[in-house]
Amino acid sequence: MVGLATKRRSDYFQQAKSLAVKTKTWENLEKLMTAESKVLVKGLRDKQMRWDEYERSMIDKTLISALAGVYLGSNGKDPEGKMEKTWPTVVGDMLPPLGAFLDETQFRIDAGILRIGDKTMDFADSDIENVMEDQDSDPYDTGNPAVQAAIEEAKPHGIGSTWLGVATRVIRYLATPAFSFFNLGQFINRQEQGYKEMRRIAHHDKRTCADCLNYDKQGWQPIGSLPMPGRGCRCYDRCRCHIKYR
Ligand SMILES: [Zn+2]
Ligand SMILES: [Zn+2]
Repeated sequence: MVGLATKRRSDYFQQAKSLAVKTKTWENLEKLMTAESKVLVKGLRDKQMRWDEYERSMIDKTLISALAGVYLGSNGKDPEGKMEKTWPTVVGDMLPPLGAFLDETQFRIDAGILRIGDKTMDFADSDIENVMEDQDSDPYDTGNPAVQAAIEEAKPHGIGSTWLGVATRVIRYLATPAFSFFNLGQFINRQEQGYKEMRRIAHHDKRTCADCLNYDKQGWQPIGSLPMPGRGCRCYDRCRCHIKYR
């Protein structure tokens, strides 16, 4: 998988650039990729897409979205160079878990747990939102057993046993990591500009995890010594900490 991705690297850079130019902000990028995630999973479920097409699109879109995040974070300052620089991180962070997730999905289809053509569950935006919202809070009753099950399935190490669970996990590869990679692009920028210190500011709401609060409490630290939002915290790709530099 890594070998194949490496061969297509310049292709990915090109597509990431177009995607970044089109979306302009990481928020738009995340929104667009969320919509594309649903289209992909529906395509597979409804037999409009073969497994190998699905697998390839998943790999392509995961890498392109992450690179587009870096591109946007670079804020026009040598975005190509920054994609080059972060390519090993993009591949190393995203491909191994994605490979495992794809294997698991294929296994569940073969075993008949995920049924092709099964349209009993839809991917309503409100259901997806409920699942995403509830990832790191205590179990709470959404009143919909399917949503309840998908909350567990969509966790980073959860198992997508329903199509809703699969769709939500796909979003966690294609869409939500855009923010972390945006921050990575911005970080390299600040480093190049000679900033010496960084601090990680948590969202102070009831969903902020203990790890993020802990980083927040550390205050100003030497640049490079704190992990990017979404790294080193249990809220992963859903982390919305932001980084300040000085
Ligand atoms: Zn957190
Ligand atoms: Zn956070």
